Amino acid sequence: MDAIAKVLVSEQEIAQRVRELGQQISRDYEGQDLLLTCILKGGVAFLVDLMREVTIPHEIDFIAISSYGQSTESSGVVRILKDLDRPIEGRHVLIVEDIVDTGRTLSYIISNLRTRNPASVRICTLLSKPARREIDIPVDYIGFEVPNEFVVGYGLDYAERYRNLRFVGVLHESVYKTKRG
Ligand code: 5GP
Repeated sequence: MDAIAKVLVSEQEIAQRVRELGQQISRDYEGQDLLLTCILKGGVAFLVDLMREVTIPHEIDFIAISSYGQSTESSGVVRILKDLDRPIEGRHVLIVEDIVDTGRTLSYIISNLRTRNPASVRICTLLSKPARREIDIPVDYIGFEVPNEFVVGYGLDYAERYRNLRFVGVLHESVYKTKRG
């Protein structure tokens, strides 16, 4: 695709890592009441692949929050737009997220979910940008660490586009400077 300057994580690398994570999660949560909690919209591609690599019984649910909007800079404002469908009391919640950047979003979500008395809350993220971390949240499962660049694909967007890419890549600078959405 012309808009992509470079591929950071290929389709094959993602598939392989998602399989490994699914196996690890299946071992770690064996015999437990597991709820995969996807953060919309960015976590969707990861969730649908990951859940099919998790071989133990589990449920899925979704939470939607406000994030960057049309910009590539964090506003620092987190608001729940759509909450989980069901209570999580006594359940093992595994948050499925696209990327942990500053950590602000997940920090807010974790403290919010903890007030509902789940048995545990842990994080599974496809990507992590450690160089950008502001809040030191424990991330239990990480697919790949990526450098401090704005990435798109495999669920991640720029102005709502590029979520459908099968890989994770970096956009050409010209895309930001020309027309949007
Ligand atoms: P944090 O609160 O950790 O700074 O940001 C988390 C959210 O910001 C992610 O779920 C994602 O929506 C967005 N985000 C952070 N870095 C990137 C990036 O490189 N590309 C895209 N598309 N979104 C990002």
